Amino acid sequence: MSVTLLGPAEIRALAERAGVRPTKTLGQNFVLDAGTVRKIVRQADVEPGQRVVEVGPGLGSLTLGLLEAGADVVAVEIDPVLARLLPQTVAEHAGLTPSAAEPVDDAPVTVLRDDEGRERLTVVTSDALAVRRLPGAAPTALVANLPYNVSVPVLLTFLERFESLQRGLVMVQAEVADRLAAPPGSRTYGVPSAKTAWYAAARRTATVGRSVFWPVPNVDSALVRLDRREPPRTTAAREDVFAVVDAAFAQRRKMLRSALAGIAGSAEAAQAALQEAGVDPQARGETVDVEGFARVAERLSASRAPGDLAQWGP
Ligand code: SAM
Repeated sequence: MSVTLLGPAEIRALAERAGVRPTKTLGQNFVLDAGTVRKIVRQADVEPGQRVVEVGPGLGSLTLGLLEAGADVVAVEIDPVLARLLPQTVAEHAGLTPSAAEPVDDAPVTVLRDDEGRERLTVVTSDALAVRRLPGAAPTALVANLPYNVSVPVLLTFLERFESLQRGLVMVQAEVADRLAAPPGSRTYGVPSAKTAWYAAARRTATVGRSVFWPVPNVDSALVRLDRREPPRTTAAREDVFAVVDAAFAQRRKMLRSALAGIAGSAEAAQAALQEAGVDPQARGETVDVEGFARVAERLSASRAPGDLAQWGP
């Protein structure tokens, strides 16, 4: 199958033909550089025949790169205009044939097949955050140039909902990349770092300049590689651990003893739980790793029902 990737001229022509006006609210900045697309695909270690989920295919720049590498793609796009345009673009640039398929949870689905009838691309028109089920085989990788305004929730939601995902390669705002990959003790370590660490090891792998996008964004971007790992061994529910993380960082400057006073019931209860968990009550959240938060949540939730701590809003 021969695939041609999109360059600046194709991106503009496509957008013009379909009357696409990129909107900031949906984080629509399209990649117009084939080199960047191939770099993302390479860093994701995409293998032929691998099922990959892409969130926000937009005009199809990365989708075509994934197809070129032999991946079978399931793409979730919120913008119905772009979701309708994508099958046409992929038909023209990769020689696939589109056909309508059964909707999934009311979301329209289009399937594209190659000459041998093999399904190579499935387009789902939906908000990625609303997708609970994906059509076809379970994807093993998430590869996406994520919409910047929802990049962290989309990433965490997909890692939580789709356990089959073993790795990820996402392009996000450079600052967000730093936060996702930050180790405890660093200036950028915070809620996204600790929650991502629950699911995966994250590593910032490259910086991407602004000029590879149309329209040109006013922030730099970076690539983050994620490799699934076992969550911390704990009897605490995941949502209770996340509630402790949220509480610990809600008032960044506070010592954990007071930051966790609300969720623990009192500063004394927080102090006792922290001590039992082997975490210094005078430390701040930015020094504690996800295993530490899990131990604290385990102590705090010992006498409560699972999910109880998560009811508490900082
Ligand atoms: N992948 C394309 C590329 O690299 O050129 C486009 C990336 S653009 C940064 C983000 C895409 O995500 C846009 O197509 C936008 O419409 C889509 N998007 C925004 N919010 C979304 C959501 N909640 N669910 C699914 N797609 C979304």
